[in-house]
Amino acid sequence: MKLITVIIPAYNEEKALPMMFTRLDNLIKNNPKYDFEFLFINDGSRDKTLDILRKASETDPHISFLNFSRNFGKEIAVAAGIDHANGDAVVIMDADGQEPPELIPEMISWWEKGYDDVYAKRKTRAEGWFTRLTSWGYYRTIQLMTRIPIQVDTGDFRLFSRRAVLALRQLPETDRQNKALFSWIGYKKKSIDFEQQKRVAGKSRWSFWKRLNLAIDGITSFTIAPLRLATMAGVLVAFAAFVYIVVVIIQYFTGISRAEGYSTLLAVVLFLGGIQLIGLGIIGEYIGRIFNETKGRPLYLVERFHRAKIAREHSEKKSKELDQ
Ligand code: UDP
Ligand code: MG
Repeated sequence: MKLITVIIPAYNEEKALPMMFTRLDNLIKNNPKYDFEFLFINDGSRDKTLDILRKASETDPHISFLNFSRNFGKEIAVAAGIDHANGDAVVIMDADGQEPPELIPEMISWWEKGYDDVYAKRKTRAEGWFTRLTSWGYYRTIQLMTRIPIQVDTGDFRLFSRRAVLALRQLPETDRQNKALFSWIGYKKKSIDFEQQKRVAGKSRWSFWKRLNLAIDGITSFTIAPLRLATMAGVLVAFAAFVYIVVVIIQYFTGISRAEGYSTLLAVVLFLGGIQLIGLGIIGEYIGRIFNETKGRPLYLVERFHRAKIAREHSEKKSKELDQ
């Protein structure tokens, strides 16, 4: 039997977990042809999330959990899941119930047909218009800057084949944005539609500023196009200045009267100052990234890892097969 590992990052999800357990039980019952392992990543929750996971894993042979030493953020939690998932296929899913586990069988069926990355695409979004508008703008911008196709209206909810998982494990960067990494690895991709649901409990941790930061991280970790943009802006401004100088000289020699202006001078100086600061900021972003990367720190620290019985049996069977 094939093992499907479902990675579920959880940060303060005590209210959502009981309902998630029932839905996952149904998943097992309705799909007897597969073994399921549910690998929860407790990302430094401050509520009872860890207690609930520990208790559930004592009786339920399907539940694995990995406890971080502190909160590292969802992107890192997913990376840890990818590192620890042994399934033949691996699904990434939120703990809050916004992404329906009922969609997993459909993902599996596409995987069986040979796809490596089956990702869920939101048909309707449970978010407000402002979030939708800014995220649309973001995708347009990033897509203009890169040749790699970026999937729009997708979250991290998806299934990866074994080889896609092995590919993702080779991407060790510190400043990560999952979606960019998932696009980068390539392989055969397939999108399926789903309706995004409302959060069961609690509220989303994504404020506008967090989103903005994620967007900047996404762009700067994915492409160096902004550096090129700064160069081009510089060339453009220098060219305009050159043309203006020629005009001034002609005016001087032909005796055409010129308007003398203190305010225009100030405007130009401020404009150029602004462009220079933006250029410096962009360079700074990339230097900061180099700084983070050169430290060579581990992505996360694990406090405890419990592997589900079902997953242990699978790896024992696999190593026995290899011995024969
Ligand atoms: N999450 C996490 N670490 C964090 C924040 C969130 O592991 O620091 C988990 C959270 O428990 C949930 C998923 O990531 O399972 C998505 O989080 P959230 O619902 O806040 O984001 P949204 O659905 O609004 O994108
Ligand atoms: Mg959510």
